[in-house]
Amino acid sequence: MTVKKKAAVAAKSAKAARRPAVKAIPKASAARKPAAKPAAGIRRPRSRPSSNDVFKGFTPYPLRKGEPYMNERQRAHFRNILLGWKKELMEEVDRTVHHMQDEAANFPDPNDRATQESEFSLELRTRDRERKLIKKIDEAIMSLEAGEYGYCDSCGVEIGIRRLEARPTATQCIDCKTLDEIREKQMTG
Ligand SMILES: [Zn+2]
Repeated sequence: MTVKKKAAVAAKSAKAARRPAVKAIPKASAARKPAAKPAAGIRRPRSRPSSNDVFKGFTPYPLRKGEPYMNERQRAHFRNILLGWKKELMEEVDRTVHHMQDEAANFPDPNDRATQESEFSLELRTRDRERKLIKKIDEAIMSLEAGEYGYCDSCGVEIGIRRLEARPTATQCIDCKTLDEIREKQMTG
């Protein structure tokens, strides 16, 4: 952790201590872009989870009273979440590639081919999103190893276990995130 960050943490920790540890799930999840919808008449390629934006393969961390934030147990917990999520996403990317290879050039009929092309562009967008997410997860793992994971990039306050479980790649506390979103809205009108 940088000296500046440490100072910010110290300044904010008193304030943070008075706050309830668990906050409501941020509204940000609702503001997230909706998944790309296929045009009418185009079937979804295979059934799959509707969204990979959330990783559910973990048990919520059993918080013990007075335990230090981001102690070794907590860090191990988030390491497992981040690595598990990354693995899941990479398998999904693999499946997409294989699916496209399997189906490529199998449709002599122009209508079928058009449908297939729409499917492919949808899959490519999904893959692109997954790749970006994997990059974010890698960054989170790096900050975890550097001992900086779980603190707000903007103000240094503890992001919180439950918020991180809901958004393991979160780099901002809910207050800074909300402020940024308000600013963004004002800028774009
Ligand atoms: Zn903050």
